[in-house]
Amino acid sequence: MSKYESINPYTNQLIKSYPNATQQEIDQALDVGEKLYLTWYNQLPATRSKSLHEIANNFSKHRKEMAKTMTLEMGKLYQESLEEVDLCINICNYYADKAPSMLEPTTLESELGSAYYLKQSTGIIMACEPWNFPLYQVIRVFAPNFMVGNPIILKHAHNVPASAELTEKIIEEAGAPKGSLQNLFLSYDQIGDVIADKRVQGVAVTGSERGGSSVAEAAGKNIKKSTMELGGNDPFIVLADADPDVLRNVLGDARTYNCGQVCTSSKRIIVVESLYNEVMNILHDTFASLRPGDPLNESTTLAPMNSQKAADKLAEQVKKGIEHGAMVNYQYPEIKSSGAFFRPMILTNIDKKNPLFNEELFGPVAEVFKVKNEEEAISLANDSSFGLGSSVISSNVNHAQEVASQIETGMTVINGRWITAPELPFGGVKKSGYGRELSELGLMSFVNEHLVIDVSK
Ligand code: NAP
Repeated sequence: MSKYESINPYTNQLIKSYPNATQQEIDQALDVGEKLYLTWYNQLPATRSKSLHEIANNFSKHRKEMAKTMTLEMGKLYQESLEEVDLCINICNYYADKAPSMLEPTTLESELGSAYYLKQSTGIIMACEPWNFPLYQVIRVFAPNFMVGNPIILKHAHNVPASAELTEKIIEEAGAPKGSLQNLFLSYDQIGDVIADKRVQGVAVTGSERGGSSVAEAAGKNIKKSTMELGGNDPFIVLADADPDVLRNVLGDARTYNCGQVCTSSKRIIVVESLYNEVMNILHDTFASLRPGDPLNESTTLAPMNSQKAADKLAEQVKKGIEHGAMVNYQYPEIKSSGAFFRPMILTNIDKKNPLFNEELFGPVAEVFKVKNEEEAISLANDSSFGLGSSVISSNVNHAQEVASQIETGMTVINGRWITAPELPFGGVKKSGYGRELSELGLMSFVNEHLVIDVSK
């Protein structure tokens, strides 16, 4: 059973505990959500645009409070928290402006008659979200579904309850209809019950393979649509024609942003031998120049991990990897702090038999692989159970595009590290999940494409 606790990972001190939702609270939330769905069903999406803009405005008003709350309970750098709030404001404004036309009926050519399909709401969607981007993960599901007309029940991660409550409050205070987003502190059993409830029509999960497969199983059993945004082991491929300046710029925070806890962090740096030393030097410089400290402090550049448990889990994974032959090329010096710090490290010599080879390391650990040529780089990139994101670094864009097309992945950034924006689809293949969030594709995730055809002529 999940225990909802807000703990500051910089001090490892408990801030506040939160009780689980009662059965009565769950029933009431489902009733409110269902009523709102029925009201929205007969209204055009454009009638909700103003309200979503107001939600964006209210996040602007509460920008600092939201950012501080996230930093306090999951440890990310305050500046990164501010960037996250700004991104969410953009996402809300994007869907408020663009969704009405995207949700207009689509005309179909058919010899059988005049045909089109409507894009209608389906009902309450449950969003099961992780702690690494406490606001962004929620808004990625909330904003498009708000425009579609699907109310959201939020089950957030056990370690970001204050962020979950504040998100709900900011949306409510902006004047959004009651039930637009309702946060519930649910146990795993209660999640199963909510998914099974007939008022719920879908579930969007962002999280690990463990959480994803459990929720997907419950969704499948109850014939509920699901999207799975799961983990990654993203390759960062450095080709022989990479521009050294671009490489230095891009590699700078590719593995350390959000303390390496990004699903699309560049976890496997795959580099052709001619640029191996260059890459190692950049990584060394980057890691060695980090300044650990209080993530609320502007001068800090190395944040604690989101929890002591996460730091311990990463240390255990790395220890096992070393026992299986991985070599520590660099590790940040000892950090004197009672916080959940993990000393950033560079690992090499990870062969196929090593458990690390096919695992996600969710923290500031760069795994570097030296390859002879491009063919070997592509083959190594694809030798993974995951397929979320990837980077290709090359001074020849056509060349990079050619390589990108050969990678089994959901996203490739050329000459950049991971990226996200409201208009770009986000998601993966293989064990990284299925479905897409954001963009027009994400908007359609929980839409009923309702065919209407007139065959009367
Ligand atoms: P997680 O443990 O799977 O948790 C994600 C959510 O699922 C949380 O709300 C969690 O609740 C819930 N959950 C976990 N196990 C469950 C179960 N057995 N039954 C029902 N619900 C369950 O993932 P995490 O460690 O918080 O997040 C990190 C992972 O998310 C990484 O693998 C990362 O790559 C991935 N991620 C993917 C994307 C993407 O877009 N593809 C984006 C961000 C992160 P509790 O907290 O209460 O356990």
